[in-house]
Amino acid sequence: MEKAGHRVDIPVDVSADVPSVPPSHVARPRAFRLRVTAAVACATVVLASPAAAQSLRGSPASLSLQNRQAERHDFSFLKGSRDVARFVDAGLLVPLEGGPTYRLEDVSFNVARPEVRLFVERLSSQYKQACGEPLVVTSLTRPLTHQPWNASARSVHPTGMALDLRVPRKAACRKWLESTLLELERRQVLDATFERRPPHYHVAIFPRAYVAYVASLTGREKSAVRASAAGAPATHVVRRGETLWRIAQTYDTTPTAIRRANRLSSTTIRVGQRLVIPTPTHGD
Ligand SMILES: [Zn+2]
Repeated sequence: MEKAGHRVDIPVDVSADVPSVPPSHVARPRAFRLRVTAAVACATVVLASPAAAQSLRGSPASLSLQNRQAERHDFSFLKGSRDVARFVDAGLLVPLEGGPTYRLEDVSFNVARPEVRLFVERLSSQYKQACGEPLVVTSLTRPLTHQPWNASARSVHPTGMALDLRVPRKAACRKWLESTLLELERRQVLDATFERRPPHYHVAIFPRAYVAYVASLTGREKSAVRASAAGAPATHVVRRGETLWRIAQTYDTTPTAIRRANRLSSTTIRVGQRLVIPTPTHGD
């Protein structure tokens, strides 16, 4: 499993399509098919457990998944403040200062892995745009000496790869945040759970997979910007399983902007449909 795991980081972009391959394709006897089958079957095995864990309910499986990622990245579980300081000095943990799109509250150490900061910056800017309020981060790196009494002994907070988010008061914002976390979980770039005591979302970022995912988006965002700068709007051909919301997220724009650009009267789209993608709403 540890060895097969290295494959996970590579096919981030195809992850959405892999599980939907009909079983009938897997049994074709031709040589070419067989090679494809081997790749798909392997990917499916790797994907099987995260797909099953695709909910915000906390579970031992979720914890195992988070710990496997910590192992895969060779992350240390920091014991106390001195370890945290050492990791900051070495540049392995970076500061999160808060800003117009997110706020820190009751955070004991405002440092985390660089990929966590990237995640907070991206998510909070999208959240602010969708909800009109800043995102609230309630925990980042927590060394073993600073874990709350009810924390699991397997918590990955001591590695700096996890963060906690406050549950938004407004139902619409809650829905946005939960569906965004689930969508990212489906792409296998993080694992998120809803925790009750106290209520919050716990999010463990899978650093390499998350960075690969963002790089793939940035590439598409860049080509959309280039295209619109050249006067020709970017277009996107709808693939199976895509929603307007997901496409908007991919190009860093909004479903409303896409609907407007394509004069769509509803959010319904069909496979193969060509959509004009408006210029991204923010260029970070
Ligand atoms: Zn947590």
